[in-house]
Amino acid sequence: MHDGPGAFSLRGYPSFNLREDNDLSDDRPVRDTFLPFSRPSLGEAEIGGVVEVLKSGWITTGPKTRAFEEQFAAYVGAKHALAVTSGTGGEHITLLSMGIGPGDEVITSPMTWASSVNMIVAVGATPVLVDVDPRTFNIDPAQVAKKITARTRAIIPVHFAGLACDLDALSAIAAPHGIPILEDAAHAVGTHYKGGQIGSHGNTAIYSFHPIKNITTGEGGMVTTDDDALAAQIRLWRFHGVNRDSWARSGKGGAGGYDVLLPGFKYNMLDLQAALGIAQLARLEEFIARRTELAEFFLAKLGGLEELQLPVADPGFPARHAWHLFTPLVDVDRLDCDRFEFMDELKNENIGTGLHFLAVHLNAMYEKRFGYRRGDFPNAERISDRILSLPLFPSMTDRDAQDVVDAVVKVVRRHRKVGR
Ligand SMILES: *Cc1c(COP(=O)(O)O)cnc(C)c1O
Repeated sequence: MHDGPGAFSLRGYPSFNLREDNDLSDDRPVRDTFLPFSRPSLGEAEIGGVVEVLKSGWITTGPKTRAFEEQFAAYVGAKHALAVTSGTGGEHITLLSMGIGPGDEVITSPMTWASSVNMIVAVGATPVLVDVDPRTFNIDPAQVAKKITARTRAIIPVHFAGLACDLDALSAIAAPHGIPILEDAAHAVGTHYKGGQIGSHGNTAIYSFHPIKNITTGEGGMVTTDDDALAAQIRLWRFHGVNRDSWARSGKGGAGGYDVLLPGFKYNMLDLQAALGIAQLARLEEFIARRTELAEFFLAKLGGLEELQLPVADPGFPARHAWHLFTPLVDVDRLDCDRFEFMDELKNENIGTGLHFLAVHLNAMYEKRFGYRRGDFPNAERISDRILSLPLFPSMTDRDAQDVVDAVVKVVRRHRKVGR
């Protein structure tokens, strides 16, 4: 598909038309201004939407949130979409709504943001981590099969960086035991698996709209499900355990009374946030197209560097990568620097990077409380020691993308052990 460095074919993306050779021996940084690794794309539609809500006199959960939920459910192809204050909050109340608690086990990946695992602990259940595939960084179904016990109550696959997990393989393992799959789709709004959007495969899925994610509401999240009873339970946990939210009570046509059925939380999305979400969702396909273009440029331009293991776009089954992150592994054995030094040197070139993620089991709380050790999940650890996130966001210019490539090549050349 790619012919190596310098041979990037434009394939319908004529905007890339840049110099081929740069003087990378220069001591000056490759660019004068700092390029962050992520930046949200917020324009007139988002600003106008928020202003409209501010002027409407109703700023918390109300008609905009309803509209965003309906549009989101239609986009992903799920029956219900429930807007929440964060992906983390969404996972918390989904686990509670599934009745998961002390004595229960939940299987998930160590290559995720800590919140995916923290929430399992927060409801009193035991996280059971399994290793990932060294190529895709996604949970390995064969490892999942080995960890199923009579106490397993859910499996949480994480679609890492926006690349789909093999949901059919996971279902084949989970379904005979009646174990539900709860997808961590924080990176996967717009990801396709076998022709369908993530969220349309009959599982409950949890999305995040944190500012670095593919669409943002400032902070926010969404839970999608086809299960009516589960949706009703999540609604209760989301808003004080009350059987009617304030819009349903105070809005036109609302009825007065209420009753408290659960010791619920306060995880409802504001209309101020939903206005952002509506505008962002309308631009999501355009965002993914640009992210894909940038990712393909990086794959082509960095493909010749033996010191990097580039992310795979093709997991071996039909899928559309949403390119939330572009996460090469730095081959520390071929370089005389480690990953953190590599990140620092990119910063000196005015290129920002992110770190997604350090394997969860190596964090102090998980080592201490659950006895995890280095050596438990070799693939996740190898990734954790080498991974970094390069800048990738829709408003990056072609020039920005070339600067990223130049900086990476420059740092690799400076630190490669052979052929310097
Ligand atoms: C961002 C993220 C979350 C949490 O989402 P928030 O909205 O920030 O709470 C969960 N899982 C993964 C993999 C994430 O990247």
